[in-house]
Amino acid sequence: MRSPAEARVDLDAISDNIALLRERAGGAAVMAMVKAEAYGHGLVPAARAALAGGATWIGVARTAEALRLRDAGVTGVPVLVCLSVPGEPYDEIVARDVDLSVGSLPLLAEVAAAAERAGRPARVHLKADTGMSRGGAAAADWPALVGAALAAEAAGTVRVAGIMSHFACADEPDHPANERQLRAFVEMSEHAEKAGLRPEVRHLANSAGALLRPEARFDLVRPGIATYGLTPAPQLGTFGLRPAMTLVADTALVKRVPAGSGVSYGHTYTTERETTLAVVPAGYGDGVPRHGSNLLEVLAGGRRHRIAGRVCMDQFVIDLGDGALAPGDEVVLFGPGDRGEPTAQEWADALGTISYEIVTRIGARVPRVYT
Ligand code: PLP
Repeated sequence: MRSPAEARVDLDAISDNIALLRERAGGAAVMAMVKAEAYGHGLVPAARAALAGGATWIGVARTAEALRLRDAGVTGVPVLVCLSVPGEPYDEIVARDVDLSVGSLPLLAEVAAAAERAGRPARVHLKADTGMSRGGAAAADWPALVGAALAAEAAGTVRVAGIMSHFACADEPDHPANERQLRAFVEMSEHAEKAGLRPEVRHLANSAGALLRPEARFDLVRPGIATYGLTPAPQLGTFGLRPAMTLVADTALVKRVPAGSGVSYGHTYTTERETTLAVVPAGYGDGVPRHGSNLLEVLAGGRRHRIAGRVCMDQFVIDLGDGALAPGDEVVLFGPGDRGEPTAQEWADALGTISYEIVTRIGARVPRVYT
């Protein structure tokens, strides 16, 4: 059955964006980040499109995401869980050849114990906190983590496949934290290598790092937002990326109303004169931000219209004036922008947020249709 709202995902755009990122990354390999349903685009199809575009690694946040990829037949390619937490099914993770980021001694011990039960070494990427103060081992704790990893390698329970960290401010290329993080990463990975670890890959750069900071590329870059064609640094342009998602809904109802009609909950919009309203069947239950009430624009009948009144759970209203629209006509909420529709970046700017949130929040009720 057809849904009144759908998110069209251009898989070729994902492949092309990865190809562009590969080119921009020099010789570094590309790990496509497909966490959070591939930023709303659909985990498995996006991963496959990224691989088709030349990604040779896949990154996720959660173990469940990695296992879903393996279940779907995404095998023979390394998959890294970037946010490992205690109490996950690590026996299965190790058995199914999924890499884990590890930034603490207790987690290393937990993963090593699972590897012992699974009868094969766990592939881990030691995570250094180089200045984001989020995941990973702080500089003071790094030597102990490296020492424990060496011991686990000697015991055959762990193979250190990578050393990694994450930028806090890569979207602001002049931010002094970038240089500091870069220096700390070099120091911490050199320490690990001097101590005897032989990682296959060292990696630090997200989309912004990959696009803006050549010296941060090391062996591998981990683009997320750029994979989906959205810019990681809007103030610096679009980098030739192509947005992959277009959110559309079919007009549910069109009607004439008199001047002075209060529209939607709370009557925060009132018609100034007799006008035509259209009901668009997409609401905050689908991921259209309620903060976008009386603010966000959509493309309907070839023209931009602002959402009139409050966004409801399942629908919102636009005021067409004397414009014409028929029930069933397509309304484009956001997309690449080439037909005059807003982009996810434009919605994000209007809302004071980032494009990541706009696409990732599109709900499970909205079918993804792959083109
Ligand atoms: N690497 C890690 C560890 C991440 O958590 C993320 C996302 O936040 C990324 C890479 C991708 O970041 P971006 O979407 O900014 O490219």
